[in-house]
Amino acid sequence: MQIASNIVILPPVNLIGMHVYTNRPEISSAVAKHKEKGLKIGFVPTMGALHRGHGSLFNFALENCDVVVVSIFVNPTQFNNPADLETYPRDLQADLEFLEHINPNLLVFAPSTTTIYGSEIKALDFNFDGLDQVMEGAFRPGHFEGVATVLKYLFEIVNPDMAFFGEKDYQQLQIVNKLVEIENLPVQIVGCPISRHDDGLAESSRNKRLTKKQREASPFIYKTLMQAKEHFNDQSVEDVVHFVEQEFKGKEHLELEYFEIANATTLKHATTKKAEDKYRAFIAVFAGDVRLIDNIALN
Ligand code: AMP
Repeated sequence: MQIASNIVILPPVNLIGMHVYTNRPEISSAVAKHKEKGLKIGFVPTMGALHRGHGSLFNFALENCDVVVVSIFVNPTQFNNPADLETYPRDLQADLEFLEHINPNLLVFAPSTTTIYGSEIKALDFNFDGLDQVMEGAFRPGHFEGVATVLKYLFEIVNPDMAFFGEKDYQQLQIVNKLVEIENLPVQIVGCPISRHDDGLAESSRNKRLTKKQREASPFIYKTLMQAKEHFNDQSVEDVVHFVEQEFKGKEHLELEYFEIANATTLKHATTKKAEDKYRAFIAVFAGDVRLIDNIALN
């Protein structure tokens, strides 16, 4: 049989029994029906390429809510590097299989870029009191405006009671808390612990892009974070930073972009330690062109 060349065959979106919502009114009214019955709605926003780290968030949401919505949307406005957006792994079919395995009652929302942004793919302006100016914000200009924009839109569409975010992206979690505060959004934000491979590497969609050698080298990131935590007990901030920078010097396959110790709430760069404050260490490392981030509570 010959198929006319102008016919575009779209991949089927519910091959394995899970219904995928792709437009706003459909998902909004499905959620509204559950809410009318007094059910609590949980929401986990993701960019797909799902792994056990996402899985831990789905399980937290399922434990705490009656109905859980998972969004899968690779958000263009949060990528400051077009090549990173281009190469970001996308496999909706594999994601649906993953979700069905966790719980076939999850509601999946996988909108198109036009559904979220209309014809103008553009981030909104926010004032995050400097939370977005440091670390990831400094190295990825515009990243958090993009994140906050898509979350504002997704929260409006899904209207959840609770939303779950990983501490893997700790700065993002603090910015989401701020977004909810400044926009007065009726949603409770829950932070969930970092899920790791057995060798300590934080689970990430980007890990799939590591070569064998890079993957073998990458547990060094968490190992060094744990050593930094130990040194933080009896060394100055400056000495801990110096230690980590030295550890990465000449390290094959891994290039340190930044290591920073910051106040866990304000994310302000720490220079000295105050007994009453909580601190966290943050790290970004390149393995080839794959950018890996991680963080750890220090006290
Ligand atoms: P992403 O798909 O990368 O946008 O991530 C979606 C959500 O999953 C975010 O809240 C991330 O912080 C969270 N997440 C990603 N990796 C992990 C991990 N290893 N442990 C816990 N949460 C994670």
